Amino acid sequence: MLVVMEAGATPEQVERVCAEIRAMGYAPHAMPGPTRTAIGITGNRGPIEQAARIERLAGVGQLIRITSPYKLVSREFHEADTIVTIGDVALGGNAVVVIAGPCTVESREQTLGVAEHVAAAGAKLLRGGAYKPRTSPYSFHGLAEEGLRILAEAREHSGLPVVTEVIDSESLPLVEEYADMLQIGARNMQNYSLLRAVGRSRRPVLLKRSFAATVKDLLLAAEYILNEGNPNVVLCERGIRTFDDSARFTLDLGAVPIIKQLSHLPVIVDPSHASGRWQQVVPMARAAIAAGADGLIVEVHNDPAFAVCDGEQALVPERFNAMMAEVRRVAAALDRDLA
Ligand code: PEP
Ligand code: MN
Repeated sequence: MLVVMEAGATPEQVERVCAEIRAMGYAPHAMPGPTRTAIGITGNRGPIEQAARIERLAGVGQLIRITSPYKLVSREFHEADTIVTIGDVALGGNAVVVIAGPCTVESREQTLGVAEHVAAAGAKLLRGGAYKPRTSPYSFHGLAEEGLRILAEAREHSGLPVVTEVIDSESLPLVEEYADMLQIGARNMQNYSLLRAVGRSRRPVLLKRSFAATVKDLLLAAEYILNEGNPNVVLCERGIRTFDDSARFTLDLGAVPIIKQLSHLPVIVDPSHASGRWQQVVPMARAAIAAGADGLIVEVHNDPAFAVCDGEQALVPERFNAMMAEVRRVAAALDRDLA
């Protein structure tokens, strides 16, 4: 349920409504808007009983039932686009934001080199995994804290804030210390205890869609994070499993406008993991921006043939430059800039 206050409602009237919602056993979420304040209600399992207790209070304009299973992430709850800021980067506004870097941090030279290059090419955030959730227990699982230290150094050198994956609650305090944004990978999208833990973090979260999740599953996963008090979530479409195995995954670009309609959260696309091959990454990057994505997360490697992980899908620096030039033109055609 959403309580829309009258345009002239006072802060005291808003607080009185919040207090009544709490007294009824639910949680109020006051959202001041340019003309009026809306107060969302969560914690109810079905329709709110005794809604008249709220309706009769001074300053209340209208009560609106929220029909979607997710509340805090829904457009019904919060009409305006959410802008998530990471350092001085705004994601979700008019500017398209590109996140780039290696799949995994392999060494200081590799990470600093790639960071410097992607920063010069116009990327606004550096990606790179220090903890890698791998399908096989025998694969490389990341440099852990050493990787985080390298990322922090790369941030100093390049000026780019860092987004890196957190794979469990145990390592979260350490990752939070080094990272500017926490990534929840596809394999952990439905790790509800981890979602709750990052929901209690003050760091913004990049939540990747599981390759076996519906859009509704993704939005409900984001709801876990917002419900713990962290409103700064960016969603990422990174390809799903379908019957077609001609690409590593099937990039579900249709999900972008659907999510935009259902939710106020920013949406970015990962053409690298979706494609699995560098040849398809640039066309899919262009298409993602044309479909309305707020940004991209792209893997770049200085020497993909020797990459420890995901070399087949990594763009070499020169190809990343070409991608940026093309994406800039697609964005401009839609009256958007590249941040
Ligand atoms: C990644 O971005 O490094 C990654 C592992 O991606 P995903 O979780 O989408 O597979
Ligand atoms: Mn990867």
